Amino acid sequence: MNQRPGFPAKLPSSGAPRSTRSPVSPVGTAKPATVGLSPASPVRRPAALSSGLGLDSGAVRARMVSKLAAQGLQDPMVLQAMGTVERHRFVETALAGQAYEDTSLPIGLGQTISKPNVVARMIELMREGATGKLGRILEIGTGCGYQAAVLSHVATEVYSIERLRGLHEKARENLRPLRLHNVHLIFGDGMLGYPKGGPYAGIISAAGGEAVPQAWLDQLAEGGRLVAPTITPAGHQALVVILRTAQGFERQVLEAVHFVPLKSGIA
Ligand code: SAH
Repeated sequence: MNQRPGFPAKLPSSGAPRSTRSPVSPVGTAKPATVGLSPASPVRRPAALSSGLGLDSGAVRARMVSKLAAQGLQDPMVLQAMGTVERHRFVETALAGQAYEDTSLPIGLGQTISKPNVVARMIELMREGATGKLGRILEIGTGCGYQAAVLSHVATEVYSIERLRGLHEKARENLRPLRLHNVHLIFGDGMLGYPKGGPYAGIISAAGGEAVPQAWLDQLAEGGRLVAPTITPAGHQALVVILRTAQGFERQVLEAVHFVPLKSGIA
């Protein structure tokens, strides 16, 4: 059986800052905010009020998960996570009714949340061969924070970096009530990766670039997998999976996808 190696589950105690606030910091000095430790109000908005979905969004999510399984998604940990995270809390109230349809949705500032099938597919690819949780992983493109929340259920530590200040802050707001202590949000340019959290058992990009940045390869642990939408030599965007082995990198080009562009710098 193709067992994934174990990765350090935790940083040394000095490594992961436990601050409850993340002052917006420029690239290079970015500090992660542990979203779960916020002293925010423990009172959650009732689903019926916040989304118009009725009180039992669990049933709607269970249907979404059945569809994902019917579409061929198999990793039990990923399906479980998709069934747990309330996607309707991450989109505007007016769009909440569409939250469990297999569609991408706008999240502001011209960006989109990927459709559930693509989120699950990419995480499944990153976890290929793993049975338990992965160790530390890096997400490029926090957006509204939805995928980071899903990732928090399949890995021990999630570092998620966003280059748009408005979305970084929105994600922090969205994630705060969920108290996910293993999600660390960083405001910065994800093209540089986030060396402080690495090496990573998995890296997943929610934005598509011309090529996979060298920094991501450098920060991928041996045995780790990177999944990123990338422009292929044929000129279209496809999912690229890169496995780091003792010998080097193995690259696979999979299905065509449509992601927002990977951009450098912060805004
Ligand atoms: N995973 C997100 C999807 C967000 S869309 C979610 O669940 O909502 C992709 C995001 O990638 C956008 O928010 C965009 O601003 C961000 N992005 C693009 N280039 C980036 C970069 N170099 N560093 C960090 N984030 C980037």
